[in-house]
Amino acid sequence: MDSTQLYQEIILDHNKKPRNWGKVEGCTHKSEGLNPLCGDHIWVTLKVVDDAIENVAFEGKSCAICKASASMMTTAVKGKKLAEADALVQEFREMATGKLDVGQGTHHLGRLTVFAGVKDLPARVKCAILPWHTLHAAFAQEATISTEGANDPFANA
Ligand code: ZN
Repeated sequence: MDSTQLYQEIILDHNKKPRNWGKVEGCTHKSEGLNPLCGDHIWVTLKVVDDAIENVAFEGKSCAICKASASMMTTAVKGKKLAEADALVQEFREMATGKLDVGQGTHHLGRLTVFAGVKDLPARVKCAILPWHTLHAAFAQEATISTEGANDPFANA
């Protein structure tokens, strides 16, 4: 199976059966993410205990790439320390924007490297990154982020 097939299989699987779908009961952090270009609109909720992510969930309306990225993200960061999860946000963002060559540098992305191909699909980059920016905003207790407008996290990317 080549990387394109693997990518499609994983997207389809997570789209059909998103992991950690819904809201975390008694969440300590939450944020809303918007990508007006595509229409992606998601919420990420998490419960942080002793600087570690005890539980994380997402829900909303989004395209398949955004949903699969969010689903894999929640799986990847659950149980991690906030600093480790934030480092992963940074790595994912660098991979999706082509700044990190996952075949070369050291990183902790694991299976998330199936999203490395989005760097060649400019219209999809924001779809893939939106859940990660929303998670980062939740850490910082920001209520809403958008990929467009004044609080565009890409503005200083
Ligand atoms: Zn999208």
